[in-house]
Amino acid sequence: MSLIRTAFEPILSTIFPEQCRVCFARESDLAGGVVCEDCWRKVEVFTNETTLCVRCGAILANSQHSAERTCRNCEKMAFDRAVACGAYEGAISASILALKRRPLLASRLEWMIRSSLDRTIDLSVDIIIPVPLAQKRARERGFNQAEVIARVVSRHLNIPTNSTVLQRVVNTPQHRAGMDRRARELSVEKAFKVSSAGPIEGKSVLLIDDVLTSGATADACSAVLKKNGASSVTVFTIARAVHYRH
Ligand SMILES: [Zn+2]
Ligand SMILES: [Zn+2]
Repeated sequence: MSLIRTAFEPILSTIFPEQCRVCFARESDLAGGVVCEDCWRKVEVFTNETTLCVRCGAILANSQHSAERTCRNCEKMAFDRAVACGAYEGAISASILALKRRPLLASRLEWMIRSSLDRTIDLSVDIIIPVPLAQKRARERGFNQAEVIARVVSRHLNIPTNSTVLQRVVNTPQHRAGMDRRARELSVEKAFKVSSAGPIEGKSVLLIDDVLTSGATADACSAVLKKNGASSVTVFTIARAVHYRH
């Protein structure tokens, strides 16, 4: 069914205007994405002027003094730094949800990825590693959205991606409503392993995912990468969850 849908979508969209997934306006052309131009314009794309935690990229109150621009929640995280393109809301979150259904990146997201990489000062990268999907989910979905993002990053930085060195050990149980934060963290802590230390030993790793929320997944991946000899880990995601806004 999805194959047929994909094949006919260009034709269908000219007959039936598509609906913006954010404001539900009907548009004849969403430029290959799922969101209209007006909604893209409202997106919060981070710049070097955005007040973010210098370490984990959490969105901070504008009043926070620039000299102490850390959120203080990320001190124990195993990664050195986290960089995101923008806030996980509106057009960005709708486009990331679409990316989980089809392995295509909206051209606006590609542009955001490239400009975020360009604005990131002192970004040293030897190897790009996407956060692996749980095998069950990878089978259901047929692709890993973090790999789709990693390909764009890899092309832009001209640095190779390695999608096999970091692996999931077990299927992390889906986050249940009853699970508190600590229980969720424990469930991801042991979820990753490194297949062989060779490719990462002494290397600066750029770890790729779609969204950084609590940071638990990125933390667990970074811990295992460092245990196996990675010299530094920078996390790069399209979006940063906004519920940590102080
Ligand atoms: Zn819209
Ligand atoms: Zn922080």
